[in-house]
Amino acid sequence: MRIDTPIRTIGDTPQGGSVLGFYAPKGAPRPPRIARGEGVFLFDDAGRRYLDATAGAVVANIGHANPRVLAAMNEQAAKVSFAYPRFFESEHNIALADRVCALAGEGFDRAFFVSGGSEANESAIKLARQYAVVRGQASRSKVISRDPSYHGSTLGALAVTGDANTLNLYGPMIRAMPKVPAPQSYRVPEGHTVASYEKACAEALEQTILREGPETVLAFILEPIGGLSTGAVVSSAAYFERVRQICDRHGVLVIYDEIMSGAGRTGAFLAAHHWPAARPDLVTLAKGLAAGYTPLGCLLAPDHIVDAVAGSGGFVHGHTYFTNPLSCAVAHAVVEEVIGQGLVERAGDMGALLAARLREVAERSPIVGDVRGKGLLTAIEIVADKGSKRQLPAAFNAPARLTEHGLRHGIALYNRRANLGAFGDFQMITPPLTITAPEVDLLAELLERSLAD
Ligand code: PLP
Repeated sequence: MRIDTPIRTIGDTPQGGSVLGFYAPKGAPRPPRIARGEGVFLFDDAGRRYLDATAGAVVANIGHANPRVLAAMNEQAAKVSFAYPRFFESEHNIALADRVCALAGEGFDRAFFVSGGSEANESAIKLARQYAVVRGQASRSKVISRDPSYHGSTLGALAVTGDANTLNLYGPMIRAMPKVPAPQSYRVPEGHTVASYEKACAEALEQTILREGPETVLAFILEPIGGLSTGAVVSSAAYFERVRQICDRHGVLVIYDEIMSGAGRTGAFLAAHHWPAARPDLVTLAKGLAAGYTPLGCLLAPDHIVDAVAGSGGFVHGHTYFTNPLSCAVAHAVVEEVIGQGLVERAGDMGALLAARLREVAERSPIVGDVRGKGLLTAIEIVADKGSKRQLPAAFNAPARLTEHGLRHGIALYNRRANLGAFGDFQMITPPLTITAPEVDLLAELLERSLAD
């Protein structure tokens, strides 16, 4: 295998015309131009079809061009698409909040809608901070997070993101927060089992709280099942319960970033529902909640936190587009589709089928070392050698190559840049929750062909 061939990466996507391309090095070739989508498929302007194997960036949970969501979008846009929430409440903001809180269940009484995941996490951190201040705990300002982790690209969300590459660049502009290791299931450090390493990770959290001074620690934020950070590592109930106990002991709030794992993807409306004895205080959602039809993020909070803050003048936070009627109406229609079509249960069923197919691919492929995940939040790990779990050289940029080959074979695979170290080169496999059994088979077939290349 040559490792010096220049290759386009999904993270190096330039755009045409006057568009400022993201992560775009000069001279990189342009990606195909999207023309339309239908169900789990995308079509470019040359008529080529791509199976959307990662629902874009783990977003298109109900597939593309859902007629009922498009009708709801049309209807709301024709009535009113924007009205500032300080002047007017909106029917769908209320209906969506009621629906999402009911699905999230006990402990989640209020929903605050913003435009995406980074804004949702900023909102969670700011609400936690205001809650601490109104309770006379103004010294609490640190938010501990995990390494690796991804919580968004705004400067506040970056402060809690565990990604050395990004922090090297933006670190001097932010107050980088303390980090603790995230549990592993495949590359468990020498001398540990999965369970003993999970325990060590939880103990590292307590040691960090004690070292920083519990009176300075506001919250611990974590992705209960990581996306592009850990590649769908699923931890045990014992880990989440330990985290909850440690945080309770020191008066630290627990925030679950469910921007990828929420809205039904793992076979439960919230991934938190898989570990009911360890309920978080705050949860953030985005991506699959409006499923890509409009930008939308959400913060879920309990009454006692919201009421404490409201009692002291209200949440000092907002964005122009928060709770906007169009996004709320569309997300409301999306959530009704998710529930009406039984997509949460389907994520569990199709997830089991997908995992079985991916394990078959792994058995045949010399470079697929691991298959992991829950429901339809899954990942495979690509290695140079399965026996030793040796990684491919970072310069080989395996995820980018897979994306490149995938596009040629008619499968769209979202991933991150080359391996970030201990968590290896993984590829998320997260199709729309609407995927059918024959489409799962097709996904596995196209993926296997792309891996073979
Ligand atoms: N948190 C997690 C776990 C994510 O996966 C992402 C996006 O990939 C974000 C936060 C940031 O969301 P957004 O890109 O909508 O700001």
